[in-house]
Amino acid sequence: MNTSDITGKNVTVLGSQRSAMGAARLLRHFGAKVLVSEFDADKFDAEKRQILSDIEAEFEFGYHSPDVLESDFVVVSPGIPENADIIQKIRSKDIPLYSEIELTSWFIDAPIIAVTGSNGKTTTVNIIHHLLKTAGYDSFLGGNVGVAASEVLVDSLKQESTKPIFVLEVSSFQLDNIDTFKPNVAVILNLTPDHLDRYPSLTAYYESKLGMLRNLDETCTAVINRDDPELSRHDLIVDESRYFSVSSPSGGDAMLAEGIIGIMQDGEWSPILPAKALPLPGKHNLSNALAAVASVMDFITDPEILAQGLMTFSAVPHRIEYVGKIKGIRCYNDSKATNIASTEVAIHSFPQPLWLILGGKDKGGDFTTLISQLGASTREVLLVGAASDIIETQISPALPTRKVDTIESAINYCLDHGEDGDVLLLSPACASFDQFENFEVRGDHFRSLIQAHEGWTM
Ligand code: ADP
Repeated sequence: MNTSDITGKNVTVLGSQRSAMGAARLLRHFGAKVLVSEFDADKFDAEKRQILSDIEAEFEFGYHSPDVLESDFVVVSPGIPENADIIQKIRSKDIPLYSEIELTSWFIDAPIIAVTGSNGKTTTVNIIHHLLKTAGYDSFLGGNVGVAASEVLVDSLKQESTKPIFVLEVSSFQLDNIDTFKPNVAVILNLTPDHLDRYPSLTAYYESKLGMLRNLDETCTAVINRDDPELSRHDLIVDESRYFSVSSPSGGDAMLAEGIIGIMQDGEWSPILPAKALPLPGKHNLSNALAAVASVMDFITDPEILAQGLMTFSAVPHRIEYVGKIKGIRCYNDSKATNIASTEVAIHSFPQPLWLILGGKDKGGDFTTLISQLGASTREVLLVGAASDIIETQISPALPTRKVDTIESAINYCLDHGEDGDVLLLSPACASFDQFENFEVRGDHFRSLIQAHEGWTM
């Protein structure tokens, strides 16, 4: 599809969240006739009405009109599941249905580095973005990472850039409706159970993620995690694959060898920097850094620039973010840990005695796996939110648990009973929607409670 193909086309955008609003803007920019159709009237507000009026897009909310089924094609928001009524109707009329990432990719005239996986996407795209900027590229960061890819693209068109590269974080929901999406570098970080509330099976979820490799050809590179057991089980038929690994010091392209992060260049080992110098906690972040390095190897060849970029990267909020200490208890906000695998990773980052805040909206995972991960040094698991009962049933009495309802009560309980040298970690393993608008609001709430507490220091 190109610019002229889209001019004058009737396109419906389903939903009105971030990526839908971006898609509407992009489509209008290239001259399509746009209808934004939002079923949930509560998600539509005066601000959206104004934005859509300004760009001369039609809109409707509270229902989907029959006009939707007259569209030349439809762009679907990642939040709308395949089994929704409207999707079934669109499919039965054979109207093409695309995700916003697919749509955006038609108009990107620059290299694309796209990152997917169950965990670590946001951290990794931010490291890649930072490395590229350090090396003097005009890196545009978008996708599931705050600003929609389509928004970033429209904004980029207004700027003069000599060395543009798009770095996109791509969720499985966006990959469900791709057609020709073909990133120059396609990164798959890991595959662990998630979104079991949305996919019919784990296999379906994994297949969706692996869809990122579907259109790759000899001009593209796949970047794969050699340490991931699930990824190694799949037959990844890609000619040009690059591997990264924290545990196998040979046979990869970006690796850890004797505590040094390095890359293979023309068959020679090029050290970059000692892992200890990476300003991020945990082995998982080492893996994210190696993924980032492997992803930019076509664009940055000087190990010194890579080292400078890695050393100057700062942690992303809500991802094992240190928020200060009270009475010698160090507090970390890992609100972004919305599944069990990412909570396990956070737990492994702390050998100290641990107070863990778990809970929120359950996504159908198996919390019993945490029993073997949380060792004898666990002080107590403090349970909050709607999933408290389910989690308690699964992990108690193997682990010391306490239901406290709110994050505030959890903090107070820990500070009353904890000791100098302990760690308090909010890493909920659940979505936030039972008590908060999103994980950012949950993490901000935790951080502000900690930082307003008597005796807080950084
Ligand atoms: P995503 O965007 O995929 O959700 P983030 O970078 O936002 O990933 O990190 C979310 C959480 O996942 C982090 O707080 C951390 O606990 C965990 N995590 C990060 N990187 C990894 C990784 N490589 N493997 C497993 N878990 C990870």
